[in-house]
Amino acid sequence: MNVDYLNGVIKNALANADRSGTVLGEDGLLHCSVCGAPRELRVEGVKEPLPVMCLCEKEQYEREQAEKRLRNAVYEAKLELERLGPLYDPGYDRCTFSKDKWPESRASVKARSYAAHFDELRDKGQGMIFSGPVGTGKSFLAACIVNELRRKGKRCLILSTARLITVLRELRDTQRQLDALASLDLLALDDLGAERATDYALELLENLVDTRALRDRPLLVTTNLTARELREPQDLRYTRLFDRLSRLSPAIVALQGPSLRAQDRPARAAEMRAVLEAG
Ligand SMILES: [Zn+2]
Repeated sequence: MNVDYLNGVIKNALANADRSGTVLGEDGLLHCSVCGAPRELRVEGVKEPLPVMCLCEKEQYEREQAEKRLRNAVYEAKLELERLGPLYDPGYDRCTFSKDKWPESRASVKARSYAAHFDELRDKGQGMIFSGPVGTGKSFLAACIVNELRRKGKRCLILSTARLITVLRELRDTQRQLDALASLDLLALDDLGAERATDYALELLENLVDTRALRDRPLLVTTNLTARELREPQDLRYTRLFDRLSRLSPAIVALQGPSLRAQDRPARAAEMRAVLEAG
């Protein structure tokens, strides 16, 4: 590199250097008035001291880089989901922990805790099963976990089990879709056990569970079935699938109590009456 060029670069850097928030130190160099670290460096053979980053500037720079990496990861993950086409159901996107009406419930606490410890749990392939009657909020919580992790740049998807089977049956190249599903950081199968129990459905679900197990990738499952029904399925053809699932997702979170939707009903009816009666 030619010396004139180098001097030009240095001169430019010095002219553009931000000297705000600095104090002159005993070493004759400018120091940051916040962290005290030098903001200049003497280099042999160069007349003027050169600007360098102090600790706060380094921290800010690293923070900005991390934010940029996260934005890119979130963007890439979103593109990847869109490539899954009809398997991606944006209806689940609305479910977030901030909209949880019962954040103190045991199930909510466990769901948030699963999301918070996901990195560690993912490496162990540890999933979770939300079991309970219709309307207890299990799909909502599973979708909250997926969306929370997606916000952190993880590649996650929640999909209705029945829809998965219908869509894959109509597609020609199902292996490509199955591979994509198998490689996600987290896959949530919503409402397992409500699908039509055909041999095709069972084979597909077993294939999916097995490929994810092979890669140590966790599954979230929501189901109306109880822990007992998962252990001893009425339809014996499900025995192997449920057995695999329970081993992959040993934590079963049981949601009880009256249906949340039913609890909501009187309030919604009153709301509706108020609108109608206002004329
Ligand atoms: Zn500083």
